[in-house]
Amino acid sequence: MIRVGVNGYGTIGKRVADAVTAQPDMELVGVTKTKPNYEAEAAIRRGYDLYAAIADRATEFEAAGVETAGTLSDLLEAVDVVVDCTPSGIGARNRSVYAAHDTPAIFQGGEDADVADASFNARTSFEAARGADTLRVVSCNTTGLARLLAPLDEAYGVEKARVTLVRRGGDPSETGRGPINDVVPDPTTVPSHHGPDVNTVLPGVAVDTAALKVPVTAMHTHSVNVTLRQAPTTEAVRDLLADESRIFTIPEAAGIDGAGKLKEYAMDRGRPRGDLWENCVWEESINVSGRDLYLFENVHQEADVVPENVDAIRALTTDLSASESVERTNEALGVGL
Ligand code: NAD
Repeated sequence: MIRVGVNGYGTIGKRVADAVTAQPDMELVGVTKTKPNYEAEAAIRRGYDLYAAIADRATEFEAAGVETAGTLSDLLEAVDVVVDCTPSGIGARNRSVYAAHDTPAIFQGGEDADVADASFNARTSFEAARGADTLRVVSCNTTGLARLLAPLDEAYGVEKARVTLVRRGGDPSETGRGPINDVVPDPTTVPSHHGPDVNTVLPGVAVDTAALKVPVTAMHTHSVNVTLRQAPTTEAVRDLLADESRIFTIPEAAGIDGAGKLKEYAMDRGRPRGDLWENCVWEESINVSGRDLYLFENVHQEADVVPENVDAIRALTTDLSASESVERTNEALGVGL
């Protein structure tokens, strides 16, 4: 069993903890919290051992009647790998702590690429991660783009991808984020940093991105145009994407017209937290004109990186192949069902 710790039990951390618990070859040793808030209480209710992320604040848990199993140092001593799910920038500060404990670590996409030995996406860079001590699972948008562009590049060659990212303003729990009533280019410069980030896991594929923030919390939407080197039929591209285990091609007949119904669909399917781990591509939006492919896809920012973190754990700690790991992760979570 691979013993796993999760440092930072927020939006991503709680989902990674649940996903690790669902794996047949992994054991969740515990999760950390900085304070004894509702998430700390929820972790304990789920049966997870809770560790104080900041040793100086350990007494706050005691005062609130929330039982801890120790501090972050204790957790790091007890695990084979730690998944850092702290807010952007804190992961980089934690790097030396993990190194001092000789604990392999996985960071998230809010960190700069140089936080880790390699950036990671299971579809594109599992084998390249072998031998690393630290990995960075790329961001939700980058994960979505890598999953989409890799099969297109393999099948037809990508000459140039141009993607407009319509980004949710914040996650549902992020009450302080916005905009509340605006459409904001973010960044105002074009192309945005997302294209170069895709190249950290999919080198050599030309991709330019532009990004806007809008007043929604549910999902990101990508408006995609890819100029391919060959000119496949629309049907062939639909089949190609439908064959990808982490791409859900939304059937036209489903009547799902946006992120609201997609989330409703996920909840109706009994998905935990209404999570959509897959890229959601509107089947009828897939259209090839000459060598130009067009489509719309949605990415659930809270969820799509979760199976990737599970695979990153195996890439760091086992000899399993990418396909064996992805299959195991998908089966344990129900990805693609
Ligand atoms: P979050 O704010 O929801 O959760 C972070 C958690 O870490 C919180 O519970 C916070 O209390 C805790 N924390 C703060 N300081 C800490 C410390 N020093 N030690 C331990 N825990 C600490 O953030 P998130 O959305 O889960 O993002 C985590 C990482 O994942 C970031 O790098 C982010 O960019 C990346 N990411 C986020 C999303 C998303 O949409 N939420 C998607 C993909 C990647």
